[in-house]
Amino acid sequence: MAKPMSKKSAERVVVVGAGVFGAWTAHHLQQLGHRVTLVDAHGPAHSRASSGGESRLTRAAYGKDAIYTRMARDSLPQWKALSAVSGLPILHQCGILFFFPTEEPYVQDSIAAHKTFGLPTEVLDQAEMAKRFPMIDFDGIRVGLYEPGFGALMARRSVQTLVERFVKAGGTYAKGAALPPGDRTSGELDAVHLANGERLAADRFVFALGPWLPKVFPNVIGPRILATRQEVFYFAIPPGDRRFLPSAMPGWADFNGGDIFYGFPDLEGRGAKIAHDQHGVEVDPDTQDRRPTAAALAEIVEFRDRRFPALRGAQVIGSEVCQYENSSNGDFLIDFHPGLENVLLVGGGSGHGFKHGPEVGRYSARRLMGSAKAEPRFSLATKGETHHREVH
Ligand SMILES: Cc1cc2nc3c(=O)[nH]c(=O)nc-3n(C[C@H](O)[C@H](O)[C@H](O)COP(=O)(O)OP(=O)(O)OC[C@H]3O[C@@H](n4cnc5c(N)ncnc54)[C@H](O)[C@@H]3O)c2cc1C
Repeated sequence: MAKPMSKKSAERVVVVGAGVFGAWTAHHLQQLGHRVTLVDAHGPAHSRASSGGESRLTRAAYGKDAIYTRMARDSLPQWKALSAVSGLPILHQCGILFFFPTEEPYVQDSIAAHKTFGLPTEVLDQAEMAKRFPMIDFDGIRVGLYEPGFGALMARRSVQTLVERFVKAGGTYAKGAALPPGDRTSGELDAVHLANGERLAADRFVFALGPWLPKVFPNVIGPRILATRQEVFYFAIPPGDRRFLPSAMPGWADFNGGDIFYGFPDLEGRGAKIAHDQHGVEVDPDTQDRRPTAAALAEIVEFRDRRFPALRGAQVIGSEVCQYENSSNGDFLIDFHPGLENVLLVGGGSGHGFKHGPEVGRYSARRLMGSAKAEPRFSLATKGETHHREVH
C-alpha cells in the first residue's frame, strides 16, 4: 500500500542509489519541488554499478513490448536536453540498426508499434543495408530495422552530469552506504541509517539499488532480481578508416536467431565495442572478478571476424566486466515495499534499462508522491523467482 498523496508542496525525500534510475528519479523529484538527498555507497555511475559503463544503446524497437517503445521515445528528448547543456556529448545520434535472419514477429510488432508512436523507422533489405553500412557483412541477414533518431548514450558521463546539475540546482548528494531498513511489515520508514552512523530522516524514500536490491532487501526481493556477469570488448579501428565513425556506422544488434550480439561505432576514439547479450553466470556485484575471460573474448572475436571483416586481427584496446540486474522476465520493478508504505523500490533494468532512465525517473517520482497509477508490469507481484527473459 502506498502512502497517500502529498499535501505539502515540498517534502523531504531520500533517494538511495545514484545509478541511472536513482539519478533521474532524484532529478524529477527536484523538478516537482521536493527537497531531495541522493546517496550512493561508491559514487554516481561508479565502475561496478550497472550504469558505470562507457556507452549504452538507445532504441525504440521492442517487438510486442510497446510500453518500452513509448518510454524510449519519451526519454529521448530528455537525453537530448541533458546533452545540450553538457560540455561533452551525452547522446551520439548515430542511428540504430537491428538486423535479423528472418522476418520474425519481433520485426512486424516493432514496425506496428513505431507506426502508432510516429517513429520514422526504416525497414531495409539486405542489399540496402550492405550499400549503406559497408563495415558490416550481412551474410545470412534478410531484414533490418533502422532507427535514425536514436543512437549511443555516454553512460557514465550522463549520470555524473545529471548528478552535478542536480546539486547545482539545490539537491544534496552524499557518499554513504545505507544499512538495510530491516523486515518491518507495516508502517512508514522514518530514516535511512548509514554505515558511518549518520541518520537521514525524510518523509519518503526511494531505493534504486540496481544489482544490490536483493542484498539490501533479501526477503522482499531475494531471487526476484538476479545479477549476471556480462563482458564487453573494444577493438582498434584500422588507421584512417572512416567507416567506423559514428557519422557512418550505427549502433547495432544482430538478432542471430535469438542469440543476440550488439555493439557500437568508434565513439570518441575508444574503438568498436562488441558484446554478447546472453546472460552470463550469476554473480555478486561486490565480489565478482572484473577481469575479462579468454572464453568470452574468443566468442566475441569469432563473431567479430564473421560480421566485421575489416576488424579481423584488430587489437583489443579495452574491456569491461559488468552485470545485468535481471527481473524474472525483463520487466522493470517500480513498486512500493510491501511493508513500508513510504518506500519505493526501483530496479530490474535487466540489460535494457539505461535508455529509459528519464522516464523511469519521471514515473517513479510521481508514483512515490502518489500522483501516478500503478503499472502492473512494474509491480512486485509480477516478479517471479524463476527466470525466463521475455523483453528484448
Ligand atoms: C554490459 C551492459 C550493457 C548494457 N547495455 C545496455 C544498453 O545498450 N541499453 C540500455 O538501455 N541498457 C543497457 N544496460 C542496462 C543498464 O545499464 C542498467 O539496467 C542500468 O544502468 C541500471 O541502473 P540502476 O540505476 O538500476 O543500477 P546501478 O547503476 O547499479 O545503480 C545502483 C546504485 O546503487 C548503489 N547502492 C547499492 N547499494 C547501496 C547501499 N546500500 N547504499 C548506498 N548506495 C547503494 C550502488 O553503488 C549503485 O551506484 C546494460 C547493462 C550492462 C551491464
